[in-house]
Parts: sequence; structure tokens; C-alpha cells
Amino acid sequence: MQLLEEKIKTDGIAVNEDILKVDSFINHKVDPFLMKEIGKDFAAHFADHGITKIVTIESSGIAPALTTAIEMGIPMVILKKQPSKVLNKNLYQTMVTSFTKGTSYELTLSAEQIDETDHVLIIDDFLANGEAATGAIRLLRKAHATVAGLGILIEKSFQPGRDKLKEQGIHVYSLARISKLAENYIEFIPEEV
Ligand code: 5GP
Repeated sequence: MQLLEEKIKTDGIAVNEDILKVDSFINHKVDPFLMKEIGKDFAAHFADHGITKIVTIESSGIAPALTTAIEMGIPMVILKKQPSKVLNKNLYQTMVTSFTKGTSYELTLSAEQIDETDHVLIIDDFLANGEAATGAIRLLRKAHATVAGLGILIEKSFQPGRDKLKEQGIHVYSLARISKLAENYIEFIPEEV
């Protein structure tokens, strides 16, 4: 997606060979106009996939997941990272290792929000090692839902996430694909036309 690539070039900060900082338009301050266009792109790409719900992981996936859900006219469900006192019965849970923090967290889904009738599109900000997406897929399988695909804003293609997911038969659609990062250097895989 041209617009997202341009934004990454102007406002993204390549911290080192592994980490891209996008705090000024995705992770901390959010660009709502960019999110709207991202929602339109995902909705157009996944239009004929029979999707019933959008699922995302809190917190950075919420904005693009919401605009996609609005475009597709379907609900969005947020997988929770924080334990909740009110969410306590009929829960599906799984442990996920965080790429950026180097720690683990428990991802939670209430059985009331997704069931076997759902065909789900997962949306997240980054794809690195594929841990977050694989955790989301494990929860959806526990809920007996099916996975239509994974929509990613920024894929770091030099990390193994995409291949791991493709091996599981998951359709991965990334709006921007980065082939190389270094301090103050970002290289993209050209968009397929
Ligand atoms: P994975 O689970 O695929 O290893 O990593 C994906 C998660 O880690 C994303 O949800 C995102 O929050 C975080 N992440 C991975 N790489 C980056 C990065 O380069 N920059 C930022 N800001 N977050 C990242």
C-alpha cells in the first residue's frame, strides 16, 4: 500500500536491524485518515472471503481492525492481554511470547464472543516471528471458529512469521513488506501489481 509505505519512509524510525518504531502514526499517536484507508484496503482484499468477524490483539491492532470492521459492516473482537476481573467464565486462554518486550503474556478470548459459526479475519500491526498471530489462531481454534486470513500493516519479511503461518495454510496479506532494516535504513519488497 503506497500510502503506508510513504508514511513509514517519512515518519517511521528504524531503530536497529530488528525494530521499526511507528509511534507517531500507529503505536502511540494514531493517524485516523491512514487507518481509514487501511480499512478500505483490507475490506476490498478480503471482500469475497465470507468473513463474519474481525479479530485483533490489544492494543495497536484495534484502530485498523475497527476501520476494517466498519468497511465490512461486521463486528470486531479484541483479544485481551490483561487479566480481567469481570471476564472470568468460559474463557479460552493461551500464552504468547512478545517480540518487542521479550516477555510472555496470556491472551484471552471469551467463549461468548466467537463460536463455530464464525469465519474470522485477524488484523495486527506487525508480523515478526508470528507468535501473536499463532496465539490468536490457537484461541480461534479453541472456539471452533475458522480463520479466513491474516491482515498485517507491516510485515518484516526477513523474520520467519509469514513462512510459519503459510506452513499452517494461513492466507497472509501485508500492506507493507520490509526486506531489510538497519539504523535509519528501511528497504521494502516492491508491491505486486
Ligand atoms: P510476532 O508475534 O509476529 O513475533 O510480533 C508481532 C507483535 O510484536 C506485534 O503485535 C507488535 O506489537 C510487536 N512488534 C514486532 N515487531 C515490531 C517492530 O518492529 N516494531 C513495533 N513497534 N512492534 C513490533
